[in-house]
Amino acid sequence: MKRKAVFPGSFDPITNGHYDIIQRGISLFDEVIVAIGINAEKKYMFTLEERKKFIEDAFKDEPKVTVITFEGLTIDLCRKLDADFILRGLRNPADFEFEKAIAHTNRRLSKIETVFLLTASKTSYISSSIVRDVIRNGGDYSVLVPDTVVVKKIV
Ligand code: ADP
Repeated sequence: MKRKAVFPGSFDPITNGHYDIIQRGISLFDEVIVAIGINAEKKYMFTLEERKKFIEDAFKDEPKVTVITFEGLTIDLCRKLDADFILRGLRNPADFEFEKAIAHTNRRLSKIETVFLLTASKTSYISSSIVRDVIRNGGDYSVLVPDTVVVKKIV
């Protein structure tokens, strides 16, 4: 059976940290499905289409990576896709505490295992929210994100 992992997140925008986790996920799984969650309450800097395209373009030569969008619980998405694993990155103790509660809950509600990868030390400080701050203030964000992330206007 194919080993499929769902990598859920907002990816607003994808960063070099996400890129590293996806790249390393490829060596562990037959398929990595990057799933962009739609949360009606959240305000995003990039549209869903932009966020999706940035990731698709970054992995255009990688057939094991697909990019989708979804609403609802990640475990429901996993069931729908027949994926047994959720992939998540851990940057620091705060991520750990947060992720631990979610992973336990998901495990209580399903049989899906969450697989955590420690972030590469080179990218562990990067977050999408800091990238957005840099973009908003006209800084050089290009060292923090894949070069497929293009900012058309300063928001
Ligand atoms: P969310 O809205 O779920 O926080 P993100 O897009 O910020 O979505 O993150 C999705 C996943 O990517 C999470 O598992 C998060 O820990 C991981 N991640 C975020 N930034 C990095 C980074 N710099 N290095 C590795 N993983 C990261």
